[in-house]
Order: sequence, then C-alpha cells, then structure tokens
Amino acid sequence: MTALSQVLRKIDADEVVELTRALVRIPSVYRPDDPTATEAHVAEFVEAWLRREGFTVEVQEVAPGRPNVIGSLGEKRPGGRSLLLEGHTDVVTEGDPAEWSHPPFSGELVGGRIYGRGTADMKSGLAAAMAAAAAFRRSGVALRGKLVLGALVDEEDGMIGVRHLCTTPVGRELDAAIICEPEENELCLEQRGVVWARFRVRGKMAHGAMPEAGVNPIAALGRLLGAAPGLERRLRKVCEKSRHLRPPTVTPTIIQGPPHKVGVPQSNVIPAVAETTFDIRLTPGIGADGIRDELEAICREVARAQPGVKVEWEPVNAFRLATKVDRSEALVEAMVRGVKQATKRAPRYGGVPGSTDGTILRMELGIPIVTCGPGDRLIPHQVDEFVVADQVVEAARIYAASALNYLEAE
Ligand SMILES: [Zn+2]
Repeated sequence: MTALSQVLRKIDADEVVELTRALVRIPSVYRPDDPTATEAHVAEFVEAWLRREGFTVEVQEVAPGRPNVIGSLGEKRPGGRSLLLEGHTDVVTEGDPAEWSHPPFSGELVGGRIYGRGTADMKSGLAAAMAAAAAFRRSGVALRGKLVLGALVDEEDGMIGVRHLCTTPVGRELDAAIICEPEENELCLEQRGVVWARFRVRGKMAHGAMPEAGVNPIAALGRLLGAAPGLERRLRKVCEKSRHLRPPTVTPTIIQGPPHKVGVPQSNVIPAVAETTFDIRLTPGIGADGIRDELEAICREVARAQPGVKVEWEPVNAFRLATKVDRSEALVEAMVRGVKQATKRAPRYGGVPGSTDGTILRMELGIPIVTCGPGDRLIPHQVDEFVVADQVVEAARIYAASALNYLEAE
C-alpha cells in the first residue's frame, strides 16, 4: 500500500464531523469585559486531543487565558522543511441567539450540514487539520520534515496569536503554511489586504454664529471624503487586477467631529478637531511605502485647500498588505497534486476577500501560504452559520495528501 493510502485510511469521516461538532460546542467568543470568555476552553480541548494522539505539544500563553496550542510531529533537519496547518480557535459573537434556527453552540447536524458559530470560520478547518495531522501518527507513516498543527488565538481581532507565533522558534523555522479558513476547499494563492487609516483635522474652535473667528475642521473633513473616490481610482491603477479578488476599495467608515475623547458635540460650536477613518482594501501591487505616500498626499492637498487646518493621518493598526504566492512554489505544487489525489478532481482556484493569520505569516516570515478550507466563503459571521460535513472530510484528505507531498515520507 502506498504511504498516501495508508494515511488517508486513517481519516475517519464520522470522527472528523464529531470533532468539528465538539469544538463548536465549546464557546470561544472573546469578550474583553468577561475574563472567562476567551479561547482557553477550546485550547484545553485541542491540547488534550493532540497529547492523546502522540503529538509534541507546546502551549504559548499569548495573553492571560489566551493560549496558542502548537502540536508537532517529526523534526526539521538541516535543509529540510517545516509545514504549518493553521487554524484559529476564536469565533465572532453569535449576536442574538433568538435569531438562530439552530442554537449557535449546539453543533447540530442536520441534512449533512453542521450548524453553529464557528462551524465554517473555522472550527471545521481546525478539526480537519487535526485529523489530517493525526493520520500520519496513526498510520505510522513518518515524514522527512516537520508537520506543525497551530490552533491560534485572536484571529478575529488583532491577530496576537499569529504575531506571537512568528517570534517563537517553532514559528521562525516554518517554511510554508496552509491556512485552513473557509474557502470552499479552493486553492487561494492571493488575498486582499487591509489598511485602516484615521485622519485627524485640527482647526480652531469657535462659536457657530461667528465662523470667521474659527477654522472649521469639518469643512476639511468634507474634502477628505471627497478625495476617497480619487484614491480608489489611483489604487485600482497601481494594484494588480485579479480574477480571484475584487479590486481595491476605499470606504470611509467613521466620522467624528469632535471625537469622543476630545469633546462633546454641540450645535453651536465649531469643534477644534474632526476625524474620519478609511477602510482601504488592496490587491497585490502596492507596498506600505506606496500607501503612506498616497495618504500623505491627500493630507497635503486638503491642508492646502483650507489655510489654518492641520491634517494628519495614522494607521489604526499594523498594515496588512495583500499577499500573493506563485504557482511554482513547492507548497502550491504539493497542494495541486494533493487536491487531485484526495478528491479525484482538478483543483479550483479562488481568492481570499479579507486578511487572515496567513497575511501575518507571509509578511513577517516571508513564507508561502495557501488558504484552503471547508465552508462557504460568504457564510462566516452570519446567523445560522454552517458547514457541509462532506466538505470538512474532503479538507482533511486534502491537507493529509498535500502535507505528504510537501514533506515526503521517510
Ligand atoms: Zn477565520
């Protein structure tokens, strides 16, 4: 029997489905005002499961009650490879449970679908990755490289889990990663980037009846909003066009004048400060410097148009640029072959609409990433989130075959 069939035999469809349901039943919404509402319980479950399966397990306490769980098999030898199967343990809020037709943390299995918060995003992907990795140990097929299973915290917010991983030895030695996010099991070699830019305009506070005594930052804010479509057009020219990604967008999302921390809005007061935030989505083709230059140019243009105002901008959090991986990368070749072996069909390609932990791995470590996982691309964060059970099992088979192709049997 080939190594591949030995490994695939050890992936049990019912077990993959039950593992997904078990993970969904452990709520892991991070609620900053409740110290018990973190990823801790699901992380404990993953840790115990990996230990039972014979993995070497490392728990990284990223923040209080927020541990990354890292399981690994095999060693990276000189000149060898280390491959990460990446999932996150946090899920977004369930919203109003009354709106769900299946309780959000029940993991109900109905008509071949598993329902609940995190079924698609992404406890099914995590379960598939766990089952795929465990199949190597169970089958006795030893790999020439190191296979790492990462169950990370905080993907839905600041991505502190993956940022932490990138600073640790097991993270730094990675050569490639499969991001198990819901992409309908398509191979996604590109993902859009995101930059949140907060503009602050300073004017001079004055009475609303005597505007000539002040400098109104809100007028300048209007000019900033007016500049957004032009910025979007320029980004669409500079950035690459992709069959799999929607083009760049520039969307103003917040306006405050005055901002809460500076003052109270009053109908007869010209505020000293006004702010707006742009949510900028990118395709590959522009770097951090290019973005900064664009935003600074807008600030200068608006300041020139209205003497007396000061316009500046700052990033709301660290830039997450768009990423792209070449088809000739060894990981991509391993996955193309893996999809064919695991599913008997040719791979379909797609693109990731937002950023993921993979963005950070690509930016911080420079390693190739491919995003591929079970679940409808549009279903995450919705009420009645679900995943098709067969797709989860298919994902486990794809991960196992791809890992075997990339790391090779001993
Ligand atoms: Zn996700």
